[in-house]
Amino acid sequence: MRGIPMNMQALQLQAINKLVQVTLPVPKPGDNEVLIRTSAATICTSDLHDISGNPFGIVLPRVLGHEAAGVIVECGAGVKHLSPGTRVAEHPVIPCKECVECKRGFEHVCTNMGHLGYDRNGTFAEYFVQRADRLMVLPSTLPLATGSLLEPVAVCLQAIARAGDIRNRRVLIVGDGPFANIIARLAVRAGAGEVIVSGREPFRLSMIPGVTIPIELPWKSVDVAILAVSSAEAARACISALRPRGRMVIFSGIKEPVAVDLFTREGGFWRTVRYLRSAPAERAPLAAAALSNHIASGRPMSTLQLGVILFEP
Ligand SMILES: [Zn+2]
Ligand SMILES: [Zn+2]
Repeated sequence: MRGIPMNMQALQLQAINKLVQVTLPVPKPGDNEVLIRTSAATICTSDLHDISGNPFGIVLPRVLGHEAAGVIVECGAGVKHLSPGTRVAEHPVIPCKECVECKRGFEHVCTNMGHLGYDRNGTFAEYFVQRADRLMVLPSTLPLATGSLLEPVAVCLQAIARAGDIRNRRVLIVGDGPFANIIARLAVRAGAGEVIVSGREPFRLSMIPGVTIPIELPWKSVDVAILAVSSAEAARACISALRPRGRMVIFSGIKEPVAVDLFTREGGFWRTVRYLRSAPAERAPLAAAALSNHIASGRPMSTLQLGVILFEP
């Protein structure tokens, strides 16, 4: 491991609400794995949920973080298509390739899914390991900090794909968080006739360019409604906004039951989970293109960048 230190700094969840900066050995990549020096890791809402309540029952202690980009520093013996020095972003999920769902091409719903930051240490560290087939080489024009958004953007692209052909259609997005923001931008980019975003925070809504902020929620008048917040009330708003034959895309899952009138309603409901429809994941290159395009526009992609200082001696 020439040039690679023995130890690294990492943010480890040790108990609920106890995320601690610790010193850990730099991990060693297995045969089909790659060691990456982290350049940027994003803070996902699910990281915050993991810290505050550990809803997925992560076995602790665990280094959190699952959305990141960095530079390869070491490849396992079996890795032939990547080499040290390559800039990559990772797909955080690691399908088993053995289960029934993987074998029929639905790796994104693998029943034995691995996940960075959940069943193995994640990206809130100076170095992390990922299986080599779960990496995407970043275009040279894409800054690493922006590249770390590849996975969330790819997930949002899957929501747009599930919405069908949205060109010249009226699209409603309910929610005003970062995912709603990204989905709205992608919907505008995909040629929607009108993108309406409904949320509660004027500041957040003001950060989404090119969309309509409604005074009142639409009623039976949109072609597509995308649920981008985990709320039954928001789901009901989506359902009542759809016109006949409209399509609802359930991006944010909700556990609470929501009543649907199956007698008179004509239309479709699509739940979108992750984005891997095939290997290699088809959404990732599109996400990189969308991000490159965004960079070219000169508009900021992130509101706040943290963390570099944390690891300085
Ligand atoms: Zn995430
Ligand atoms: Zn599987």
